[in-house]
Amino acid sequence: MIPADTSTTVVSPAPTRPYVGRLAPSPTGHLHIGHARTFWIAAERARAARGRLLLRIDDLDTSRCRPAYVDSALEDLAWLGLATEAPVYFQSARLPLYREALVRLHSANLIYPCHRSRRDLAEALAAPHEGNAADDEPLYPIEWRPSPEVPLPAIDTAGFAQNWRFRVPDGETLAFTDALAGPQSALAGQDFGDFLVWRKDGLPSYQLACAVDDAALGITEVVRGADLVRSTFRQLLLLRALKAPAPSFAHAPLMLDEHGERLAKRHDALALRTLREAGVTAVEVRARFALDRNAERSPNP
Ligand code: GLU
Repeated sequence: MIPADTSTTVVSPAPTRPYVGRLAPSPTGHLHIGHARTFWIAAERARAARGRLLLRIDDLDTSRCRPAYVDSALEDLAWLGLATEAPVYFQSARLPLYREALVRLHSANLIYPCHRSRRDLAEALAAPHEGNAADDEPLYPIEWRPSPEVPLPAIDTAGFAQNWRFRVPDGETLAFTDALAGPQSALAGQDFGDFLVWRKDGLPSYQLACAVDDAALGITEVVRGADLVRSTFRQLLLLRALKAPAPSFAHAPLMLDEHGERLAKRHDALALRTLREAGVTAVEVRARFALDRNAERSPNP
């Protein structure tokens, strides 16, 4: 028998919506072959579904994003032959939408202000949470969470200048079937904790901006790298809280370098533009992706 305080929610996408996919590069460096492969998979899936493919530029992190990288991403995608529909959506131009979502989460009493610093958090966590990827948000200690009975401060100008966290439904298991990575599930409060939705610099977190945009743009399938599977559970909770339909998901395996480490923007040799300058053609890159994918589908015994 299932204990009263636990439940499993299997999230299935809303049926029969015409396919809308998206590419969502962050302009923090030149696109490398790993991004290109994920974007190629996204474009192939949209094409197979005779769907639309949008382009969203994740440029909220002003300390790391550069306009020059936006230009280079557009150029590289065009070179690779991955056509997306106009207009291009820039997250930096969509702040009112994210603010409105924060206000809705606030009215639903699903968030709370958080005054803890990253350092507080690092000190509280003696050891990294088991199974927690290095780049994933650490598990927020539950004892730091205020009771839901405590009235929330208003969201006014000052309210947008503080950190807000989403209160996850502890004990609830969220599950979905990923089109590429297979069945996925995570236990709220254990596999991931209360996560940031808003930062005191006045900007939404990636989780909030992404969920709001996927809903607002009517995305039916999110294709992205497997490093973001854990984020998906947070975004599913946000979509539910905002009463928006969930898309389906296809998390593509990450490309690794010769040391088995995942490709990063510092791998300059694997930047698309470096390959292009070295004489590699877009046809060759795409043929390589297609070959890899066939090999993944039918591995040699
Ligand atoms: N901008 C994110 C990245 O480049 C991807 C976000 C997403 O696809 O949801 O890693």
